[in-house]
Amino acid sequence: MSLTVMLLGTGSPMPSPDRAGPATLISAGAGPEGEHYLVDAGRGVLMRLAAAGLGAPNLTAVLITHLHSDHITDLNDVITTRWVMTFEETPLTIVGPVGTQAVVDHLLASLEPDIEYRIAHHKDLDHRPPVNVIEVTEGAIELPDGQGGKVAITCGQTDHKPVEPSVGFRFDHEGTAVVAAGDTVPCAGLDLLCDGADALVHTVIRKDIIANIPMQRMQDTLDYHSSPEEAAQTAAKAGVDTLIYTHYVPPMPVGGTEDDWRALGAEYFDGTIELGNDLHTVTISSR
Ligand SMILES: [Zn+2]
Ligand SMILES: [Zn+2]
Repeated sequence: MSLTVMLLGTGSPMPSPDRAGPATLISAGAGPEGEHYLVDAGRGVLMRLAAAGLGAPNLTAVLITHLHSDHITDLNDVITTRWVMTFEETPLTIVGPVGTQAVVDHLLASLEPDIEYRIAHHKDLDHRPPVNVIEVTEGAIELPDGQGGKVAITCGQTDHKPVEPSVGFRFDHEGTAVVAAGDTVPCAGLDLLCDGADALVHTVIRKDIIANIPMQRMQDTLDYHSSPEEAAQTAAKAGVDTLIYTHYVPPMPVGGTEDDWRALGAEYFDGTIELGNDLHTVTISSR
């Protein structure tokens, strides 16, 4: 069987007119009947999800790799839209590293006036946004009863220091496995998560370009992200078939052509390297 990876947002903290913020959808099955796992909830995530014919009510769970703002800017939108657009109480599970509960609590506090307005205005809306947070460190993730079930999810520690903790997620479905790494440098936790997987979705930055930009704030980003070459080395070590780049810094065309990015990885990895615009979709089947 297969899993589908859709790059909902391939952007980064730098606003782009045509790239939404970091967000990836991992799906088992299509349409409302499928299970859909959202990894990170960057700028514009629900617009991209709408373009994919899905909405917040279709999400089986939201998984957050780390609490950097660009990866969670639109988490509030997911929470509110899920709540308002479902007509019976439908809990939203948010899985993330330790610290996620506090962030979600603060988001809900910031939404308090909106929550009161809507409950007062809609007679059939008698409950607050039903959100439950599962904080994870590593190992198997149990979703609440009735949520998911077709896909086994595991998490492992990544290395995005000083952003700590950060995690990656692995999705196993009937013999097919996809790992979403998030932002990380190569590390043992990610290697373990990728072992025997079919595909790796990895955020990347062009260190060769960023290193030449004479701005300290850009150069600071070099030490806690992987380059396309480093992501390719992680993919090769794990023996995956497919490596999918996302979170392009700097974005194309400033960051070169898609072929340039692919060529950097191909020096270290013989499998297929995928990248593209928002909504680029890759179907991963077991070997
Ligand atoms: Zn980050
Ligand atoms: Zn990032």
